[in-house]
Amino acid sequence: MKKLLLLFILFSAFSYSQNMDIKYHGITGDNYNAYTKVDVPDIYKFKDAMHKIKTASLSVQFSSNFPSSARSTIDTVINILSYLINSTVEIKIKANWTKLQQNVLGQAMPVGYLHDFTGAVPHLNYPYALANYITRQDLVPDSSDVNFDIDSTIAWYRGTDGNTPANQYDLESVALHEICHALGIAGSFSADNSLATATWGFNNTAYPTIYDSFIQYGGVKILSDTSLYQRNSSALYNVLTSNNITFSGTNAYNQNGYNYAKIYSPNPFESGSSISHLDKLTYFNGDPNSLMRPSLAMAEAIHSPGPVGLAILQDVGWSINSLITITFPNNNSTWSKQNNPQKIVWYQNFNGPVDIYLYQKTANGYQQYSVMLKLEMDFC
Ligand SMILES: [Zn+2]
Repeated sequence: MKKLLLLFILFSAFSYSQNMDIKYHGITGDNYNAYTKVDVPDIYKFKDAMHKIKTASLSVQFSSNFPSSARSTIDTVINILSYLINSTVEIKIKANWTKLQQNVLGQAMPVGYLHDFTGAVPHLNYPYALANYITRQDLVPDSSDVNFDIDSTIAWYRGTDGNTPANQYDLESVALHEICHALGIAGSFSADNSLATATWGFNNTAYPTIYDSFIQYGGVKILSDTSLYQRNSSALYNVLTSNNITFSGTNAYNQNGYNYAKIYSPNPFESGSSISHLDKLTYFNGDPNSLMRPSLAMAEAIHSPGPVGLAILQDVGWSINSLITITFPNNNSTWSKQNNPQKIVWYQNFNGPVDIYLYQKTANGYQQYSVMLKLEMDFC
């Protein structure tokens, strides 16, 4: 009797949604060479020198035809994310190597969504992985959390140094982009361009996703607020395709230079691209936040979600590790020996105190030095 009661409580603690019409979020290939590179986050790049440890566990189950040379590229992506995300529940990923639609490099979706579990904002759908993190337990233990497909016919660059040659697409960038979708950068908006109507939610729940709840028109009006826009309406379609959509989350606002991050919202609506991406003209090739653009160019490598991408993951509910990115000096730049003050410029994803260590690269690794700092805050 006790066992039965416990089972009942477990199953009633959250709503398990199956057979949703969850759509894939894709990334398309641009037919030009960008020759740009966004490096891995510093927390990953300097993890050994800074004695950083992994704060999340992600596992990948590859389809049997997934080439081994491509598997190691995906393993690098998993490794990067394990230093950025903070979670006690394993994130289970399925990776498929398959022929996709013309010009689609990769696509992903959360395997499912859950709503109204303990710690959730009521009446919003959360991707499995995020719901597991928030509740600190695997709510759907028999299922993977993230599904992503990589096109099997593309001329992939499988190296992880970001030196993607001309006429090749960078596999690491695509895999990182796709997993970020399935972790929560995923809207449920859909539209019928011929009827000029739009809606949100999945066929069996009339709830928006947590990501949807931050999507706003004109910097104020939340699109999933039914007192402003009805589902299945032309009013919703008009704003959804207005090219005037931003993300209202506070962390993203702060990381985007105290402006709302612009969301890709072209007219007509592009299924798989609209709303679930950052605007491609605002965040151009080479921009630190270009990972979540709807398309990737050839000879373009983006190995970090960027401060805005990570802030969006924070806004939807993830715990992201405190990160500092040094923008000046660049790696291997030379400081003069003169008595001039030397300048360090950084940005960080949390406000608060910063510990600074100075390391000298030596033949055996790094030698740590103490450093005296004079802080000059630059408010601009
Ligand atoms: Zn995408």
